[in-house]
Amino acid sequence: MESFKLLIDGRLVDGDTTMPVINPATEETIADCPRASLGQLNQAVAAAKAAFPAWAATPIGERRKLIGQIADVIERNTDELARILTQEQGKPIADATGEVQGMAGFFRYFATLDLPVRVIEDSAGRRAEAHRRPLGVIGAIVPWNYPLLILAFKLPPALLAGNTLVVKPAPTTPLASLRFAALIADVLPKGVVNFITDANDLGDALTHHPDVRKISFTGSTATGRKVMASAAETLKRITLELGGNDAGVVLDDANPATVAQGIFNGAFQNSGQVCLAIKRLYVHESIYDAMCNELAQLADAAIVDDGSKQGTQLGPLQNRMQYEKVKGFLEDARKNGNIIAGGDVIDRPGFFIRPTIVRDIAEGSRLVDEEQFGPVLPVLKYASTDEAIRRANATTYGLGASVWSSDTDRAHDVATQLEAGTVWINTHLDMAPHIPFGGSKHSGIGVEFGEEGLAEFTQLQVINLAR
Ligand code: NAD
Repeated sequence: MESFKLLIDGRLVDGDTTMPVINPATEETIADCPRASLGQLNQAVAAAKAAFPAWAATPIGERRKLIGQIADVIERNTDELARILTQEQGKPIADATGEVQGMAGFFRYFATLDLPVRVIEDSAGRRAEAHRRPLGVIGAIVPWNYPLLILAFKLPPALLAGNTLVVKPAPTTPLASLRFAALIADVLPKGVVNFITDANDLGDALTHHPDVRKISFTGSTATGRKVMASAAETLKRITLELGGNDAGVVLDDANPATVAQGIFNGAFQNSGQVCLAIKRLYVHESIYDAMCNELAQLADAAIVDDGSKQGTQLGPLQNRMQYEKVKGFLEDARKNGNIIAGGDVIDRPGFFIRPTIVRDIAEGSRLVDEEQFGPVLPVLKYASTDEAIRRANATTYGLGASVWSSDTDRAHDVATQLEAGTVWINTHLDMAPHIPFGGSKHSGIGVEFGEEGLAEFTQLQVINLAR
């Protein structure tokens, strides 16, 4: 078995205890992973705090150069990181490779940004300047669906702005992150980035810690509420990227055969374990049967297997808890709708569920009203566009949405009426480091990516000079 270490104050160290990490495709233990104690969490925060003044004073050009060097390290180690990612997360190796490449892309992008002083006014009466200062120690908390990519949403902008970090991956997917930590241990000055792990028991201490100035959190809405509550005590800044129940709205002029593949990919990528996946599909009654049939054919044809096998399109659910949860949604689908593809767990070790299409289902069922976060898509019938918009918006979530149509002007008009941080037209899940994204309503607070995402890792300071 490979061995993994925490990164605290520039040193690769064992955890005070260990915990097993399971391969979700086999249920076998991959590694006895270090597990940090509360004492080690405090050491990590202290190291980040001690490293902050020098890192904040490092010229931004130098920080940019080091962020670029991290991108080089990621690229040189793509195969190894992808292999570990597939083993612990379950996703197909091609997708894991794409995730590692995407990770490098985020480091590359942020290495091009700057934080220039903005002159607000320069007049006979005064000169007012806006500066962007770093915040201090950032706690970065990451979920298990995209362990490396989501880490890359946080690490490079936080570093570029001059902050130091304590990173905490999810308990079931810590290994690729720890391998990455070992690879960059010598690139950055000691203490600038620290990696600890837990068994879901240190997040609370990190978010309460008085020396942490901001929490950048990605995870469920339920945990996001706890993060917000504990951040209140010390008035920490927070960015929360939370759950979603994205609606796809297929207008009556869409051609089911043309849009089916894009919708299928938007719903089933990463076996549906994507915050921004299509989780409810609204289809006009005139094309409802055709759309359901197209999606069912794609679901039937999908190759579901161990992600380490070449050709696998969908891997297992990431962990037993999520697997049991999605099985509950299948039960609900059987009661409240008609399953026309999938519907079964696969009888083998591992947390495999075939992609499932459920028709003749409506609001009031758990599968429609809650976030399934798995490969089970409810397809709902509607009669008028206004009705579709109203039903799509009737949720506390507001992360993403998409409109599918052969008339982009019409689709654009619908898009502006959907309550979501991102609305796509004729695509879903198209993301890029320079395009900001964030949730509305209970899907989050703040944004990541782009210049707006970088600004969230800074404190605005105005310097006002009398003349
Ligand atoms: P989760 O909320 O259970 O866990 C996320 C992280 O929070 C983990 O690292 C966990 O250990 C940690 N944590 C647990 N208790 C904590 C506490 N009290 N304080 C602080 N941290 C704590 O989420 P998950 O099950 O790992 O991920 C799935 C969820 O994440 C889904 O709801 C999904 O939609 C959401 N998600 C959102 C985005 C987004 O960008 N909006 C992206 C990916 C996933």
